[in-house]
Amino acid sequence: MFFFIVVVGFIVVVVYYRNQLEVAYEEVGRMAAPIRSSILPFPNHYKEILQKYFGYYNRLNTQQQHAFEQKLLYFIMSKKFIPRQFRPVTDEMKVMIGACAVQLTFGLPRVYLQHFDKILIYPTDYYSSISKRFHKGEVNPAFGAIVLSWKSFVDGYIYSNDSVNLGLHEMAHALRLENIIHNDEYSFFDDGLVEQFDAYARQLCSLPTSEDTFLRAYACANPHEFFAVAVENFFERPAEFQKALPEVYTILSKLLNQDPILHFS
Ligand SMILES: [Zn+2]
Repeated sequence: MFFFIVVVGFIVVVVYYRNQLEVAYEEVGRMAAPIRSSILPFPNHYKEILQKYFGYYNRLNTQQQHAFEQKLLYFIMSKKFIPRQFRPVTDEMKVMIGACAVQLTFGLPRVYLQHFDKILIYPTDYYSSISKRFHKGEVNPAFGAIVLSWKSFVDGYIYSNDSVNLGLHEMAHALRLENIIHNDEYSFFDDGLVEQFDAYARQLCSLPTSEDTFLRAYACANPHEFFAVAVENFFERPAEFQKALPEVYTILSKLLNQDPILHFS
């Protein structure tokens, strides 16, 4: 009996420390992401996923594609991808979600959404016991987490010009929060431009709802939603956006330091 207890105890200790070691190893791997991503080659099967599904990447020139790949590798290596209600997280999920973040931050070289080091993925829209309703995605700054329904995320890229893109929407929330969280990436937006952007949002949202609005009504829920919905439109129908709301479009292209119209014309 005593021998049995010793053996079981030994196994428990070994398993515990092995798990601890694995956790520590993964953590060190994430911390070393800047170096690892600059040394290691971009995996071919990652490139194939981008070529197959990611229009934004395919429209970049060779030099830009290389910069995109390096930033994407950094993003993937520095985040913890956590599957919910399924497993495992596939490379396709990591590449597509990472590419979405890189698309948004491509003009901001030092921004990797550092605070949000956890990406939680549900297979489909998920039920929140707090709000008592189904969610497609959310950003949780308290836990440093971006949460996404994979189905809704994919829909965002399948229907690439309907101005609805869950990934870009949630990444935009994370980006705006990242700008005010004190860390290495703090304050990358010009304060004056953010103020101008919010002033236009207030002005547009104060118009009677009967007036034809370019952005969907949800944009006027609050300034954060206005920014997130504007980002979706910025990438999914830039020419129409510029025509309908030229000032807002110009400010957003300055904030993000990129212009999809010039880039891809
Ligand atoms: Zn939102």
